Amino acid sequence: MTNSVKQKTYFNYINGEWVKASTGEVIPIQNPADKDEVAGYVQRSSLEDVNAAITAAHEAKAVWRDLSGAERGQYLYKAADLLEERLDDIAMTAVKEMGKTLPEAKGEAARGVAILRYYAGEGMRKEGDVIPSTDREALMFTKRVPLGVVGVISPWNFPIAIPIWKMAPALIYGNTVVIKPATETAVTCAKIMACFADARLPKGVVNMVTGSGAVVGQGMIEHPNIQGITFTGSNATGKAIGQKAFDRGIKYQLEMGGKNPVIVANDADLDLAVEAAITGAFRSTGQKCTATSRVIVQEDIYDAFKEKLVQKTQEITIGDSLKKDVWMGPIASKQQLDQCLSYIETGKKEGATLLFGGEPLTDGDYQNGYFIEPAIFEHVTSDMTIAQEEIFGPVIALIKVQDINEAFHIANDVVFGLSASIFTQNIGRMLSFIQNIQAGLIRINAESAGVELQAPFGGMKQSSSHSREQGEAAKEFFTAIQTIFIKS
Ligand code: NAD
Repeated sequence: MTNSVKQKTYFNYINGEWVKASTGEVIPIQNPADKDEVAGYVQRSSLEDVNAAITAAHEAKAVWRDLSGAERGQYLYKAADLLEERLDDIAMTAVKEMGKTLPEAKGEAARGVAILRYYAGEGMRKEGDVIPSTDREALMFTKRVPLGVVGVISPWNFPIAIPIWKMAPALIYGNTVVIKPATETAVTCAKIMACFADARLPKGVVNMVTGSGAVVGQGMIEHPNIQGITFTGSNATGKAIGQKAFDRGIKYQLEMGGKNPVIVANDADLDLAVEAAITGAFRSTGQKCTATSRVIVQEDIYDAFKEKLVQKTQEITIGDSLKKDVWMGPIASKQQLDQCLSYIETGKKEGATLLFGGEPLTDGDYQNGYFIEPAIFEHVTSDMTIAQEEIFGPVIALIKVQDINEAFHIANDVVFGLSASIFTQNIGRMLSFIQNIQAGLIRINAESAGVELQAPFGGMKQSSSHSREQGEAAKEFFTAIQTIFIKS
């Protein structure tokens, strides 16, 4: 690790202080475009550190809850301003940790600013309803109250937006927070925490502990002073967390994987559909939960679509995401690259045809990073592994169908239900798609990826625990409803 000594070490943030982990150990965070470069060192925390953070959050509960929503909002506005000032540095850090391109990372950071401002305003909006009582002398109303201490467990693929879209609503509704970010992107999270720290939130209101999921994440779920867990990540981890949270009787929210289909009907605008398939599947190197993974095409336009898709995919420039003309960066880690390559091998073994790409790039400028060509498979059937499991890499499975009903059937023929899109100009087909598709996010004549912060976001089936994040929907998870009856 040639330049490791120049890199900064980032501490945990507990009870208003930046502190070292009790283990005295740090974890180097590797740049996936150049594995010799360390983006920073983060703390390898122990149970003792998690417990300290939860205790701090527990002790800060009453002070934070007792502020008005407007007062809490002022802190979030301040954090938003700081994030905006530091946007370039935070975006650059995310690129160095997980490899998305700089424009994507800047867009994500700008979204983080907007999310903070959106929820800052939420502190001034209504927090209950008046419900007519059958007793005409009584006043009956509901009130939203915080859960208490909320544990946030976040993934590496949206290292800025996801921590913020969980922490901002948690805070505005009066909860205190302990976050355990994905280790791969923990430096980015430390820089987000610095925005909260410098906005001078009361001590203990937000805390960050970095380290392994098995120690820090697990320790959080099992702690008696955690009253809610919000998790985004893989299905295997999410299910285990959900089970533990259920056993403990605490509220939990799981946002997990997808196997998102795009249907290209025979009346589609092919150029638009090709463009959307490419950006949906290959932006962020295919590592979005809403990434396009299956492209289901009607047979009468299949060859024309395929030709354009391959031609456009060939034009993609791959490389270090900080370089100007690079469109697709590396895969975020060796583990992710190996997983992607293993799915490509499985696809071949199960009889799909690798039409384009799928090779690791290892020469010249690529030799120090986790680069891969975007891959397009054809002759894919719905029962194949590459049509069923989340790959989380730049791989398209092309599936040819005779008619639109077959397309709907295949689109729904997976355990996931996160996002889905269709390209058609026929209003009847659009409505039929809306009626039939099992997905939390439905997009028409638009790529499968694309989330607006003011709208509910979450999946159906095994893509989520059926709660929703973002927009007003976040209130459902981060608060409990009390019904109050008053009689004089
Ligand atoms: P992951 O499940 O490996 O890790 C997610 C987080 O859980 C990390 O912070 C990790 O350290 C932690 N963790 C791991 N083991 C744990 C344990 N035993 N107890 C507690 N915490 C533990 O997921 P990832 O690789 O970071 O993220 C990729 C996955 O996230 C993909 O499946 C993707 O689809 C999903 N994702 C979903 C959404 C959504 O909103 N639905 C958004 C982004 C990513």
